Order: sequence, then structure tokens, then C-alpha cells
Amino acid sequence: MSNSTKKTILQVAVPSPLRHLFDYLMPENCDAKNIKPGMRVLVPFGKRESIGVILDIVTSSKFAIDKLKPAIGVIDHEPLLSNNMLSLISWTSNYYHHPIGDVINNVLPKLLRQKTRKKKDEEYSYVNKIPQKSASHIKLSEHQKQVIAAIKKHLSEFKTFLLDGVTGSGKTEVYLRVIADVVAKGKQALILIPEINLTPQTISRFSERFSAKIAVFHSRLTPKERLISWRMAKDGAAPIVIGTRSAIFTPLKNPGIIIVDEEHDLSFKQQTDLRYSARDIAVVRGKLENIPVVLGSATPSIESIYNVKRKRYIGLALPERAGGASHPSFHLVDMRNQKLKNGIAENLLCQIEKHIDKGGQVLIFLNRRGFAPILICHHCSWVAGCKHCDARLTLHQKNNHLRCHHCGAIVKIPTKCPQCQEEKLLMLGAGTERVEIALRELFPEIKITRIDRDTTKHKNSLEEILKNIHEEKYQILVGTQMLAKGHHFPKVTMAAILNVDQSLFGSDFRASEHLAQLIVQVAGRAGREIMSGEVYLQTHNPHHPLLLDVINGGYMSFVNNCLEERQTAELPPYSYLALLQAESKKQDAVFDFLTTLNDKAKTELDDSVKIFGPVATTMERKAGYFRAQLLIQSKGREKLQQALDVLLRVIDKLKPPPGIRWFLDVDPAELG
Ligand code: ADP
Ligand code: ZN
Ligand code: ZN
Repeated sequence: MSNSTKKTILQVAVPSPLRHLFDYLMPENCDAKNIKPGMRVLVPFGKRESIGVILDIVTSSKFAIDKLKPAIGVIDHEPLLSNNMLSLISWTSNYYHHPIGDVINNVLPKLLRQKTRKKKDEEYSYVNKIPQKSASHIKLSEHQKQVIAAIKKHLSEFKTFLLDGVTGSGKTEVYLRVIADVVAKGKQALILIPEINLTPQTISRFSERFSAKIAVFHSRLTPKERLISWRMAKDGAAPIVIGTRSAIFTPLKNPGIIIVDEEHDLSFKQQTDLRYSARDIAVVRGKLENIPVVLGSATPSIESIYNVKRKRYIGLALPERAGGASHPSFHLVDMRNQKLKNGIAENLLCQIEKHIDKGGQVLIFLNRRGFAPILICHHCSWVAGCKHCDARLTLHQKNNHLRCHHCGAIVKIPTKCPQCQEEKLLMLGAGTERVEIALRELFPEIKITRIDRDTTKHKNSLEEILKNIHEEKYQILVGTQMLAKGHHFPKVTMAAILNVDQSLFGSDFRASEHLAQLIVQVAGRAGREIMSGEVYLQTHNPHHPLLLDVINGGYMSFVNNCLEERQTAELPPYSYLALLQAESKKQDAVFDFLTTLNDKAKTELDDSVKIFGPVATTMERKAGYFRAQLLIQSKGREKLQQALDVLLRVIDKLKPPPGIRWFLDVDPAELG
């Protein structure tokens, strides 16, 4: 090819389910010098016009040059995404085997992906109005000083730290001090927190300390708010960026540090579309940007602890609670042969009374919302089930209906059994709604509140409840996970978990890890200030090794045993997993598809990769779809990735029959 025929070809990521870039000729009347990767470009795509992002500019194409269409026009004067961001996008697309155009959809705000947009960008409207509070009154503990010094030593290079600090040990204070240094150097700090912790209280701890602008990202922003926050981060106008999972894709002008608080939290894993782990991407991004990454938790994930053990991460610890608050004591409530009142053992009620009498607040945790999880016929044993799912319907008394917690279906409560016509329907089991009602009857004088998805649906309702808890307007707090996370309740002296047994026998291999984390996190809510706390676990299995391990040996003792079990069973972190899940309204079609896929892929794979299945998912039918999956396991990440490439190639050739939907989940959080 002679120089005169050399063309400039743009490799563009276009929103489409296809897993590759698209080649376009440079737009006519355009100077190649002015085009850079990271700029948006308008391109003809099928019969439409589409906005894509230029990933690379090359001079040859694997397609015939005369078949390539010219792009319509380049939209930006400057790249919207830096080279590092483009690398991160490519990495994400490759690692999760997800269409790159769709990864871009997770990165660019909607308003930047639309063709019609106001010409003039909105001014930044965010002003930090909160009066600043100085930190001079807080005397750092020795442990805090050591941890801060250790991180500050590596502010200009990539290092991953795992900060293991019990709840209330002053982790946030550590973040604030480190961020102060980063900001003073003119760099930006990106802080990821779980959705549930993103409350005005959390944000104000940052804005009270820094006069700097803070860009906040969460799922409730309007498109315009999101664009403004995005630009503030990208242009460097906001030295501090705080957000939930998706904020990991925020462009930063001068990245300085990434902090992932409560790194074990499941909300960092996206469970639809692009199934990514924001925590894992944080580490990849830290490496790309050559900046430190701090993962913090009172109950670090098994994976992260393992990474400390094999020296990939630097382990840091804050073993003491800040301000001298003492650790809570654990008690097992043996439910066997005890009288239960709406799922609460009598001697637990005595303890609740004792703590309230002493002026403490009591937290009752129950991993199940609604009134009763089972409606059964006392005569013929008919059980109310969902028409669309393999699931029981939960009875909600306040709304006076039965609801499916998996597909949202709502059904009237029958007055008699639809099978035998007897009027003998019983409500079995207890959810938060029932426990709340029962406690109100038992303690009519006491103010009780409930925190779960049903009571916090409205904007700011969680805020309102939290505020009232702090003002001690309630003595008993009943709730689900929402209550177990992050929030600081200084007056809670007792915490109880009612249905430990439900999680003791969970089918997922991570069930025990999550239960141990839950117990320690719930315990962290009790006795954070002067009053020492007590934690009660109700169980029919008071001799269960996991419970004894967590309460006698502590979280790390549990982790060490868990690691041993995982090693024996060749489970993560000693192996790598991916799920290929398929669903269809026809049961046979799913199994046929996955069986053929497995058979064909196996011929191309060696023994280093195992494919199990197809098996039905734990709940086979959901919202009318039958679901089954292949589990792909390998001892090496590379081998797993190669196997996934093979599987995708086979799928491409197979052309899945119509009506089949499928997706890949790399490093799944749950085995389905
Ligand atoms: P964590 O993030 O580990 O839960 P925080 O940083 O929120 O812990 O600290 C818990 C409480 O203790 C907060 O009210 C915080 O202001 C306070 N605190 C933190 N460090 C100290 C310290 N060195 N001395 C006294 N109080 C502290
Ligand atoms: Zn019946
Ligand atoms: Zn359902």
C-alpha cells in the first residue's frame, strides 16, 4: 500500500450487542490531526445514526477499505475519555466478555450518549454550603497513625491496601486524613460506598472536613445532575468524588487514590447486564492510573484476605474501637423446646426488656420482610405459591395481599383454601412486619420502628427514620439488612439476629461467609459508645461450628477455617468461576441449548477447565422463565478466560434458538 492511499480509520465502540469495534473512515472535511481516541463520533449504523466513542485510530482494516463507510462527524474537540479510561473500558469488556459499546453505556452519562443535546453546557451548580469542622479535637490512636503513615508512604504509586478495622474503629477518619493529603497535592480521591450507606450523614462527614467540591454519584440522580457531577469529576473541579458501584467508571482529571469502603458488600457487584465487580475494577483502575487503592471493611471478603496472605495486598488493621468503646459480648439463644412468640424466644424477650429498662436501644434483625413467608392450609397442606416463579408468596398484612418477592406479582389473600375449600389457612413463619406487630403488642409503651424495603420506599423516608433513631424517638428498631449496614447507632446496647438458621443452611458456597459477616456487622451496631453491647443469636443449632467459631474465635478465625474448606473443595479464591446462564419460556429449549454448547465447547478445551451442568438454577422458574446454567471452573484466571472465549465462539456458531436469552457472569457473587 502506498502512502498516498493510506487511509485514516477510526475504530469505534458503538452501542450494540456485538462484541467488537466497528471501523469507519474519517469523516470528510476533517483533519486527522484533530481526531483523538476518546472523542465521540456520529456514525451510520444499520439504518440509524449512532453515537460511538473512538477507541483507536489506525491505518489498516481487516475489512475492504472501499466497503467502509465514513463517519458522519466527530462531536468533541477534546477527548471525553483519557487513554487510561479507554484501557479500563477495554479491560472491562474483555474480562467480563461484555459488548464494548454497552460498557461505554455504563461509563458515559445518558445525556452524552444522546444526539439532541443543549449546545451550552450547564454551569457547575454544586456549592459546598456546610460549615467546616476541624479535626483538631480528634486525637488519632496509635493504630490510626500507623495505618495513615503506611498509606501516605505510597501515595504516588499503585498499591492495594486492605484496611481491616472493626466497626467504629475509625476507618472513616483514616480515609479523611489520607484524602486531605491527596487533595493538598492537587489530586482527586474517588470513594466508593454501598448504596445503603450513601446518606446525607455520610456525605456531610466529608463536606464538613473539606471545603473542596464533592461530586456525588448514585442511582437517583437526574440525567442533568449526573452530567454535572460527571463533568466536575472529569475536569478536576471536584477534588472528591463519592458514589456507589457505577462511580468506579467516573473519569478523573488527576486521579490520586481510590477508596472502597465496606469492600465485602454485595452491592459492589452488578447483577444485571454488565456483571462487574466495582471493587475488582477499582484495583485494576488503580494499577492503570498508578495510584493506591484502599479497601476497607470490618469483615473483609475472603478473596481480599487471601490476597493479603499471598502478598498481593498490604494488610492494615485497626483492632480497637475509637474513643475506647468496648467490644460487645455474644450470646446464643437456644430455641429448642422454647416457647416462641411470633418467632421470638421468651428469654430473648426478657433481655430486650432489660436493655430498654436501662435506657438502651435494641436492634432486632431479621433477614426477611413482610408478615409471614408461608400461607398454608391446615387441612390439606396447600401452600400459596407464585404462578410465575418456583417461589412461595409472602403475606403482607398492611397491604392485605400476597406478594412474590422475586417477580413482584401481587395476589389477593384467599379466605378459604383454593384446593379443599376449607377455611383453615395458617400463616407460618415471621417477617419483619409480624415481628414489629408482635413487639408492639408485647411492649405497648415502647416506641418501635421498622426499617426494610417496604417502610423506606419513599425518598427520604430512611433519612427520617434514621434521624428519629438518633434522637432516641424509638427504643426498638426492627429491620432487614438495611439496619445491619454502616449506620452508626450510638445508643444501641443490644442487637439480636432472629433467623440465623435460615443462613446456616444456605445452598450457596458463600452462604457461611455472608452469615459470618452479617453477625459481625450486626454486632458492630451494638455498644459503639460508652455503653457496652450484647449480641444475641437465636438458633436451633447452638453447637454449630460456624457460630461457635465466629463468636469465640472472631471473624479471622472463621476466615481461616473457611479458607481451608475452600481449598479442599477447590472453590474461590483457590479457583476461578464463571456462570453461563440461559433462560427461556420453554424448559427443554434451555437444557438443549446448554447441553449442545457444553458438548461442543468440551472438544476444544483441555483438562485444566471443568464445565459442570447444565443444572437448573436454585429457583428454576422466575417471572415465567425457566433458568439453567453451566458452571465453568479453572485453577487459573487465564485458562478460565480462554474457556470463555471458546464458549462465546461456539455460541456465535450455534446461533441460539429464538426465545433463548443467555448471559455470562465472571466471578459470580452467587451461584444462582
Ligand atoms: P468506622 O469508619 O471504622 O466505622 P469512624 O471513622 O466512623 O469508624 O469512627 C467511629 C466514631 O469514632 C466516629 O464518631 C469518629 O468521629 C470517632 N473517632 C474516630 N477516630 C477517633 C479518635 N482517634 N478518637 C476519638 N474518636 C474518634
Ligand atoms: Zn386445603
Ligand atoms: Zn413470582
